[in-house]
Amino acid sequence: MSVNPDSSTRTSAWRDLPAAQQPDYPDAEALRAVVADLESYPPLVFAGECDQLRARMAAVARGEAFLLQGGDCAEAFDQVSADQIRAKLKTLLQMSAVLQYAAAVPVVKVGRIAGQYSKPRSKPTEVRDGVTLPTYRGDSVNGADFTAEARVPDPERLRRMYHASAATLNLVRGFTTGGYADLRQVHAWNQDFVRNSASGRRYEALAREIDNALNFMRACGADPAEFHSVEFYSSHEALLLAYESALTRTDSRTGRLYDVSAHMVWIGERTRQLDGAHIAFASEIRNPIGVKLGPTTTPEEALTLIERLDPDREPGRLTFITRMGADRIRDRLPTLVEKVTASGAQVAWVCDPMHGNTFEAASGHKTRRFDDVLDEVKGFFEVHKGLGTHPGGIHVELTGDDVTECVGGGDEIFVDDLHQRYETACDPRLNRSQSLDLAFLVAEMYRA
Ligand code: PEP
Ligand code: MN
Repeated sequence: MSVNPDSSTRTSAWRDLPAAQQPDYPDAEALRAVVADLESYPPLVFAGECDQLRARMAAVARGEAFLLQGGDCAEAFDQVSADQIRAKLKTLLQMSAVLQYAAAVPVVKVGRIAGQYSKPRSKPTEVRDGVTLPTYRGDSVNGADFTAEARVPDPERLRRMYHASAATLNLVRGFTTGGYADLRQVHAWNQDFVRNSASGRRYEALAREIDNALNFMRACGADPAEFHSVEFYSSHEALLLAYESALTRTDSRTGRLYDVSAHMVWIGERTRQLDGAHIAFASEIRNPIGVKLGPTTTPEEALTLIERLDPDREPGRLTFITRMGADRIRDRLPTLVEKVTASGAQVAWVCDPMHGNTFEAASGHKTRRFDDVLDEVKGFFEVHKGLGTHPGGIHVELTGDDVTECVGGGDEIFVDDLHQRYETACDPRLNRSQSLDLAFLVAEMYRA
């Protein structure tokens, strides 16, 4: 294992600690060469933008805004196209319009996009027809094809991840500031969708109301800049420490380290060990940080994570993304929230209703029931309302395409339909209609 290349270091504390889920590169020299190049590449995001997102997340932690974080489970290099990126963005913008209008809450928009290429896996190998091979760990590590050759980790893929992220982010910035995200476009985002789906029609009715409100404001002489572009941030799981570390830079304004691969990064359920390299790495950077918390998380672990990652108790710095499962959220979440609140820490609480609700259908497809997803979000709202804390947002796996990966939803998808458009590189995603359904239902819960 050679994740600790001894090239110049920008972050250091993590290097001597055990790092879970790192690729076993066959050629340490090749990794060192790629890391050295990555260290010289320009930042993908700016430190000031990370600070701005931290300020937005502080509003979420204080109960004044709601986080919508979403995108693919795993982005793929062969899906870096204008159509795919636009479809994802459009879905997030529509969800955000629903939440902002129907729940009347400012929405902080963060994509699982422009860097979400690395996957932790529960098993190191995969067996098909009696053949055992290493698992696919995301396009940043190896290939998804079930061949021995494709599954060898290749450090050149880190370079491709950087370029794919840069190309994606460039288009996202173009769309969000160049007119496409103008609120006047609320109907245009829905154009290809409205006729063939109930959620599309429901959205259209809401978009008409938004239009009326905008016309009224314009008639009053108000046409603020906020209506013409949108703040949109990037995020991914900080899994591959060689990559993330190579993309850290010292900010000239503050002398602090930032991971400039994304505005926000999170540490996954499988790599959040308190004495592990990932938490040490996250503690060294100034970005807003997320940590996934699964059903086995103890209050003591949560408090130690706060101690390590947010010693100054700074709202916006730390987000706990809980992913308990619909059947456990009402049981596991209350104690965590109570103990964290009693400690005086002001974290943002966000619900990932996807990862605790995955199962394998008889057809062999990994899937999730829309009703379970919804029920976990409901449980999340119930717990927070019961404790007087703020249900700060949702973190979801979705795509703008009309895939058939999760079952249920308004335009019901059945287990027998899963094979029709099952395209995910890893976990099952909500399609556009299921995503919009979810946004409407979350808006109702938020208002209630
Ligand atoms: C993910 O977000 O795709 C993921 C692997 O989540 P978790 O770490 O919560 O299992
Ligand atoms: Mn996933």
